[in-house]
Amino acid sequence: MENIGHGGKEIVERILPKDAAIKRVNEMRAAKAKELDVRLQIATEVIDIAYGFFSPLEGFMTKADVDAVCDNMTLADGKTVWAIPIVFDMSDEDLKKSGIKQNDEVLLTYTSNPFAVFEVSDIFTLDKQDMAQKVYGTTDEKHPGVKRTYQYQDKFIGGKITLLNPPKINEPFTRFWLTPKQMRERFKEKGWEMIINHQTRNVPHTGHEWLMKGAYLGAYGSMMVDKPRGGILVNAIIGSKREGDYIDEAIILCQEAQGKHGYFRDDIFLTTCSLWDMRYAGPREAVFHACLRTNLGCTHHMFGRDHAGVGSYYDPYDAHRIFDKLPKGSLNITPIFNLDWWFCPVCDEVTYMGVCGHKDKKASFSGTMIRSIIQDGVKPPRRIFRPEVFDMIMECAEKYGFGDAFVTEDYLKRRNPVFTIEPLK
Ligand SMILES: [Zn+2]
Repeated sequence: MENIGHGGKEIVERILPKDAAIKRVNEMRAAKAKELDVRLQIATEVIDIAYGFFSPLEGFMTKADVDAVCDNMTLADGKTVWAIPIVFDMSDEDLKKSGIKQNDEVLLTYTSNPFAVFEVSDIFTLDKQDMAQKVYGTTDEKHPGVKRTYQYQDKFIGGKITLLNPPKINEPFTRFWLTPKQMRERFKEKGWEMIINHQTRNVPHTGHEWLMKGAYLGAYGSMMVDKPRGGILVNAIIGSKREGDYIDEAIILCQEAQGKHGYFRDDIFLTTCSLWDMRYAGPREAVFHACLRTNLGCTHHMFGRDHAGVGSYYDPYDAHRIFDKLPKGSLNITPIFNLDWWFCPVCDEVTYMGVCGHKDKKASFSGTMIRSIIQDGVKPPRRIFRPEVFDMIMECAEKYGFGDAFVTEDYLKRRNPVFTIEPLK
């Protein structure tokens, strides 16, 4: 029962054990199976599918699924909620050259090493503008999700994926990457029954810390001293970066630092990461995050102001309202909606929009303010950044960011990859 994921189905795991995988590769090569080397974007999603992060998906979407996702926010079955298309694209030219046809089994490679088997069940085209409008609510190519959509090649292939060669997750991410099944094991060890997910792509200032504390207390209602506790799962999104984002290493290590240094009790706090390229789809991405965290075994999911949004494409609370529009019982996770936490000079503390009566005097944790604090490198008051967290930001900038805590061109070019696919032997 504990391995039931989104859509009420058993968590998908489509991975061949090593010996069987080696045999399969040899057989496919002997039979002259078609081979395709995939880019990082696709490789990331192959891993997500194979380990069940995207349960109940077993592969890349067919046209029926993509259409249903765009039109009704469900899979083709008409009832499983799904908000973002998961597609495998290919140029017309490459498709012709490869000779890939329906019902083929294709050997996917990544960085030239055997990686996965792709059972082609559908080859199709899509109206990318229509897809952008339906998923992102805009066709403006300045929107990063729309841009990604327009960058897709013209042909799409749907079909099941089986992983042959598990990724090697590189430092410092190794201990943070847990598969859905491993995540559930970990919760069981910790004795957690209530698990509250915090989605992040930030290093935490105290506003974030309080967001989590508020959600935790709110989810609990009352707390008896001797009763076992549930926990907060910080699940950082690690994936494609844009210049100016926090570097992945700082995000994960600074989140962990909050637990290490006691700002959260050790027995109620866990930091992990999952691989996903943010689409910045605002409300639709919030729904996607809810499905992803259901698969990780979470019972609750926090949604703050402007969750997964970008620019001013979405109202800051659209990502809350969308949950009211979903059919009752279609999600197996309880959303927790957060308003803003801010610093109030009158209360002289970090406080909550829903409580503090000095709205005019508030000092919000604006991105610009936080960014300039980090760029100055001068340790700010502890009510803005915990000193251990701030030290870790500086350490990560030196160790991983080529002197910067934010993504630069240099970082994009020279960073150590998050995962690698090694030769299969
Ligand atoms: Zn106040």
